[in-house]
Amino acid sequence: MKIIINKTVISLVKGDITLQKTDAIVNAANSGLLGGGGVDGAIHRAGGPAILEECKKIVAKQGRLPAGKAAMTTAGNLAAGYVIHTVGPIWQGGNRNEASILSSAYTESLRLAEKNNLTSISFPSISTGAYGYPLKEAANVAEKAIVKFAKEEALSIKEIIFVLFSDDAYTEYAESLEKVTSQ
Ligand code: ADP
Repeated sequence: MKIIINKTVISLVKGDITLQKTDAIVNAANSGLLGGGGVDGAIHRAGGPAILEECKKIVAKQGRLPAGKAAMTTAGNLAAGYVIHTVGPIWQGGNRNEASILSSAYTESLRLAEKNNLTSISFPSISTGAYGYPLKEAANVAEKAIVKFAKEEALSIKEIIFVLFSDDAYTEYAESLEKVTSQ
């Protein structure tokens, strides 16, 4: 599925984000930036130790990465140029600011990509694995954030790809994207 907002193409694909060739891939990291399970573990395994080395330097310099913020490292052996690490919220029922933190995780990642003049970026479905955010709600928040960003003028980013790991995730993101863009 593919749509164009302003001058930016937003597309959904099913697959493994570690194989993406975009300028940056986004990692659903945790605040310690030490790697972990899910997509985080997959990115560190496929990219090699150079990613963790830079992550450790970031934490040594600025402390743990708060939820909703983003930081960039090398992509090591991956085809992508950089990894943008962001931390989504842990789902606690929906009244703990989860939606605004999740939205911020997407927007801060995009701002960091812009700051570095990148032209393409891939996102996983942040917070919907170990962090337990319900898929439908997460898809809606993610796509609202992305579409709002794409409406800005003079962006360096021309391509935003959601890389969904399961059929379920793909279906939810596709339904949600239709809804968000018809509003
Ligand atoms: P979080 O802690 O933010 O919930 P997870 O990594 O546990 O992060 O899950 C986030 C999403 O990433 C889940 O929907 C999971 O299915 C998906 N995922 C896991 N591995 C990959 C991968 N290699 N590529 C893309 N998405 C992945």
